[in-house]
Amino acid sequence: INQAFAAYTELTCIDFVVRTNQVNYIEFVSKGGCWSYIGRKGGKQEISIGFGCEWKGVVQHELMHALGFWHEQSRPDRDNFVKILTENIIAGKEHNFNKRNSINSLGSPYDLQSIMHYGGNAFSKNRSPTIVDRTTNQIIKAQKEKFSDEDRVQLNLLYRC
Ligand SMILES: [Zn+2]
Repeated sequence: INQAFAAYTELTCIDFVVRTNQVNYIEFVSKGGCWSYIGRKGGKQEISIGFGCEWKGVVQHELMHALGFWHEQSRPDRDNFVKILTENIIAGKEHNFNKRNSINSLGSPYDLQSIMHYGGNAFSKNRSPTIVDRTTNQIIKAQKEKFSDEDRVQLNLLYRC
């Protein structure tokens, strides 16, 4: 978690501070899986870094959710770039691939390198891809290790700093 904070300090204009008496704040917990609310919920809001989630990049990803970011493949224009193979998605998990018309990417191009992009095997029920490149049909190779250039651009734009 501290390494993820350091990445924000070093590579964006956003800093996280230890809570003293702030009304709105994040509490890291270890519940089932890795998850976060999207944007400020008000009061205490949890981010879960569960078993297997203990990686710097995963924490960066969950913190970006808390800062207001959705998954990259939820962008309204995603069908121009990737194809979702619904037939390979675990039953009941399809909602994770919904598009959100409200997403404003602040002028950034669709970004397969975003730390907010799912890998091509996400929620696969049969080891076959759930996300492929629209033009090549190749499985999407996403990364969850570092901010992409566009992640940094959008973080700094959204927070106007
Ligand atoms: Zn996520």
